[in-house]
Amino acid sequence: MQLETDLIHVARPEQRPAPVNPPVVRTSTVTFESLAAMRAAKQRREQGERVFSYGRRGTPTTYALEDAVSRLEAGEHTQLLPSGVAAINLVFMTLLSPGAHMVIADSVYQPVRRIVEGWLRPWGVTVDYFDGSVEHLMTTLRDDTRLIYTEVPGSLVYEMQDLPALAAIANQRGIPLAVDNTWASGILMQPLKQGATVSLMAGTKYLVGHSDVMLGSVTANGDIGQRLREMAITMGQSIGGDDAYLALRGVRTLACRMETHDWHARELGEWLVNQPQVACVHQPSRPEHPGHELWRRDFSGGNGLLTVEFTTDTPAQQVDSLVDRLTLFAIGSSWGGFESLALPCNIVAARHLDNSWATRGPCLRLHVGLEPSMI
Ligand SMILES: *Cc1c(COP(=O)(O)O)cnc(C)c1O
Repeated sequence: MQLETDLIHVARPEQRPAPVNPPVVRTSTVTFESLAAMRAAKQRREQGERVFSYGRRGTPTTYALEDAVSRLEAGEHTQLLPSGVAAINLVFMTLLSPGAHMVIADSVYQPVRRIVEGWLRPWGVTVDYFDGSVEHLMTTLRDDTRLIYTEVPGSLVYEMQDLPALAAIANQRGIPLAVDNTWASGILMQPLKQGATVSLMAGTKYLVGHSDVMLGSVTANGDIGQRLREMAITMGQSIGGDDAYLALRGVRTLACRMETHDWHARELGEWLVNQPQVACVHQPSRPEHPGHELWRRDFSGGNGLLTVEFTTDTPAQQVDSLVDRLTLFAIGSSWGGFESLALPCNIVAARHLDNSWATRGPCLRLHVGLEPSMI
């Protein structure tokens, strides 16, 4: 329970009297009492210290959120970004350069493929996909591999990976391993503790928790943590005080929201799996999920996501009309907010290596919100 307790107490103002959360600081310019004070601040900054000196470099509000995310991710340095996709790009920008080779898990968040095709390949980076297994990773690595990028569990159908085993290989070869930790959002699993070099999250999802802010975070230790921070400043990536404030407020209730999402999603999964037109329910907490044992070993719980795979004779239009008739589930992208969402998903387009999906039934992703149990 230590993490849950710390999330209530981390990054709170120390002086009294004080508001319970650090107030919103909105500023570009930071003013100093003298030139000497300004120069001293610059000097501390150049020695790697986090100094309040200009809006783009952060404010006490964003520092507070950084500290909370660092606690959540069990890391030293956290850099905040204006979206989860910006967080992914910061990792690529910092750790790759033209001529480098990168290995990506096939089950990653689909827009990563867009980054690969739209930026990385034209920039001169070579990219190979691996199926998530240790064996396939070993055969995909090259002498010029500069980054291994993965996400556990995978997007849409939650394929599990043996993260400590992947990390052991990465560390043995001195290749950084970056993990998209949005599914666990730090509260269910910390990649850095499992041996990963970098953990990133779309704070847009469970950290914010109310679907009203876009946010990304990247957490790492030591030199790589510093390099990520420098690169974010070089690229002019920063977030506003209002967004940081709302995200920190979200973090305070992350643990109990997650428990409720998990509970309700398990109940709904149990009901759905017994419906005649359902072939299976993809959800790591289900005992028949292929990665269930790894999930039990590495994660402390589940979240509100599940994906229903219908029988092969179910027409896709029937799934569409089911979605249109839902009353409590809204139709929309994303997840992690207090509300329930439904979205048909095309797994074929989201996988390069696993072509079994071409012959399987239509899939519907559900995010189960905080409504009391409906069953
Ligand atoms: C949503 C999501 C992202 C991207 O986050 P945005 O804030 O929407 O840019 C990245 N990774 C995963 C796994 C996500 O689900």
